[in-house]
Amino acid sequence: MSTAVSTAQMHSRVADFVGRPRKMFINGKWVEAASGKTFPSYNPATGEVMAQVAEGDREDINRAVKAARAAFETGAWPSMSASQRGRLIWKLGDLIEEHLEELAQLESLDNGKPLAVARVADVPLAADLFHYMAGWATKIEGNTIPFSPKYFAYTRREPIGVVGQIIPWNFPLLMAAWKLGPALATGCTVVLKPAEQTPLSALLLAELIAEAGFPAGVVNVVTGYGETAGAALAAHPDVDKIAFTGSTEVGKLIVQAAAGNLKKVTLELGGKSPNIVFADADISSTIAGASSAIFFNHGQCCCAGSRLYIEQSMFDKVVSGVADEAKKIKIGPGFDPDTSMGPLVSEEQLNRVCNYLESGFSEGAEAVVGGHKRAGSGYFVEPTVMVKTNPSMKVVREEIFGPVVCAMPFTDIDKLIAEANQSEYGLAGAVWTRDISKAHRVAEKLRAGTVWINCYNVFDASLPFGGYKQSGWGREMGHESLELYTEVKTVCAQL
Ligand code: NAP
Ligand code: MG
Repeated sequence: MSTAVSTAQMHSRVADFVGRPRKMFINGKWVEAASGKTFPSYNPATGEVMAQVAEGDREDINRAVKAARAAFETGAWPSMSASQRGRLIWKLGDLIEEHLEELAQLESLDNGKPLAVARVADVPLAADLFHYMAGWATKIEGNTIPFSPKYFAYTRREPIGVVGQIIPWNFPLLMAAWKLGPALATGCTVVLKPAEQTPLSALLLAELIAEAGFPAGVVNVVTGYGETAGAALAAHPDVDKIAFTGSTEVGKLIVQAAAGNLKKVTLELGGKSPNIVFADADISSTIAGASSAIFFNHGQCCCAGSRLYIEQSMFDKVVSGVADEAKKIKIGPGFDPDTSMGPLVSEEQLNRVCNYLESGFSEGAEAVVGGHKRAGSGYFVEPTVMVKTNPSMKVVREEIFGPVVCAMPFTDIDKLIAEANQSEYGLAGAVWTRDISKAHRVAEKLRAGTVWINCYNVFDASLPFGGYKQSGWGREMGHESLELYTEVKTVCAQL
């Protein structure tokens, strides 16, 4: 099977995008890295270099922060009305819809995900996020507080300032949207650093931001590595807030780096989400839901349903149902219309997932289906259902970030809840049952930022998303996210 994509298969803008070295977007201009260096982005379906991108580092971050500061304090952005700001954000949402195909193709090429998925999920959800946030721009309000007849007091919700945003590779465009939407709606300015594995869609987004008419410096995109560009952004003394999505390990580094000027921090980190199936659940929708909970985006989801708890009497049936779903998945390059699961994003992730598989087997777990990487080029791994695991195994405790689910039987509901909550993470979880009281009782008990009932991976721009425990600080999306991009000022006047 050939996994390479010819430029003839690409939209002309996409062919151009991967055909020339890409510059960064600073202060409304396309610039090379101050060092002149570039770095490669790989096609994960082949392992071959696909594009060269400017390698920003500390100096480029400094330039971008300076531009973001100037745009925050002077010029068109701070003097714009909330309604005008909302219109620009709405227009960006429209432009994403207009350029859906180019964005979807870049996302599929750079990340490996099926093109069909990028077309119906990543890109439309990104557009929707901007449309949702556009409406909030005019609805950011303070209060009057009548605490005494001698004083007039009120609060103002002001933009927090210059925001550094560092995003991962699993949903590159969508993560950029989740981050940029509330920042722009509140009137902040941004320096965005995409993941080194997937820098391309953020650069096309920057072209659309320029086309929409955002003033120069409001959004700056610095491509580069986490250890250099990302670390410089997190530590920068003139950045007021850092918003990060990625691993818990790097999240802790961000917190340390932010301590220098005590910039505000929000974090959206890893997960090991429990997906709980009761014996009274609707079997066919549960099996479909439990499969997509782990196999969607090749398991590269922070909220992946990676711990599947099944009531004992249904265990064999659900496990064999999910295994059958796994067997039906067609692994291949994202551009192949038959593909339902593409490669993992990088060789590093492939090795990481394979090491977890090895570790599971060496500790006594067994694979009902899958369990191996696929021979040949590209970073492909088989969808895997593991059984005979126990709570002390690494595969049950740690985030694998690949298409690997551990299925475990339960009998007692209290013990189940305790086990489900026995995790350093608390991002998401789900319950499958026809008993609505039981569903809501379990939803209350789970220590997680999102609980789905008889569904999984349902996202909307209006639904707050984020983690308890080491899954993060703060929330993405919804009006909750806007508050985290504002400062509250109390004004008190003697009458
Ligand atoms: P990661 O290292 O946490 O990367 C996320 C972002 O942080 C990237 O933009 C990265 O830049 C940047 N970064 C890395 N080190 C940094 C530092 N010292 N200071 C500032 N920024 C830094 O994630 P990864 O290595 O790509 O993936 C490793 C694991 O993280 C995965 O297996 C998964 O468990 C977890 N993960 C979670 C999510 C999520 O949505 N919560 C997403 C992706 C990964 P570079 O691209 O240059 O590294
Ligand atoms: Mg890539």
